[in-house]
Amino acid sequence: MVRQKAIADLQSLSLREARGSGDFACTACRERYSLAPFEQRTDQHGTIYDLWICLNCLAILNATHLRAIHKGADFLSWQSDSSEEFYAVDNAYLATVPDAIDACGFIDFLLSAYPEQSRSVFLDFGAGRGILSGAAAKRFEKVYAVELSLNVLRKVHAAMPERSRIVPSDNYLDIKDGFDAVASMHVLEHLPNMRDILDTLVERMNPGGSLFFQAPMLRRDYLVNVHYTFFTEVSARTLCRNLGLETVGIWFDHALDFLTCIAKKPS
Ligand SMILES: [Zn+2]
Repeated sequence: MVRQKAIADLQSLSLREARGSGDFACTACRERYSLAPFEQRTDQHGTIYDLWICLNCLAILNATHLRAIHKGADFLSWQSDSSEEFYAVDNAYLATVPDAIDACGFIDFLLSAYPEQSRSVFLDFGAGRGILSGAAAKRFEKVYAVELSLNVLRKVHAAMPERSRIVPSDNYLDIKDGFDAVASMHVLEHLPNMRDILDTLVERMNPGGSLFFQAPMLRRDYLVNVHYTFFTEVSARTLCRNLGLETVGIWFDHALDFLTCIAKKPS
């Protein structure tokens, strides 16, 4: 069955589509034409993904779904379906929230990698269940936890020890404060318009502010219809440079194949 589908999908790839013809753009650097076929891979269900590489920044792109979005597919509904399911919480989960916050090592990691980090305003962009926001509230004066849908986040917020310093929000454009740190954990890969959002966030970042992100690298179990960008080290460094940021460091989680990046805005 999978094999038959593979052959059918292969035949549907026309010659025109096999060149960078501007029918989708690089999510990281906006390049439209200097894109090349990289490889095809199947996800865990046998669905074929057409993966392309951006020759400008070396990001690997999910061409299958970027093309669908370019043609008008409603990717926001894919996102909210998957996040509501992924982040559903019950009372048993809520009871573990303070411990989950204590166990979150990201903030200590940021402060050790970038000791000059100012501790005023932290933005958790794509906060999910808000655990990172909870951890940030122990070290920063004010934390904005931004998520598409606040149903789950509001429930967890009520269980957070430092909740008075955490502001849940579903619209980052309404936030008036400048950001000293913008963290985006497992979010950038979900954004077909990543650059529009990052450009805006960096513009609102204070001098010396940091961008801290983690994203899955290319691996079969990370092939899903809501992952559009697979970072490589070069693409992460190029993205930071394009945003006017200086890369502080790039790290790899070897067990999970995650890439972590910290960059700072020049003072
Ligand atoms: Zn690119």
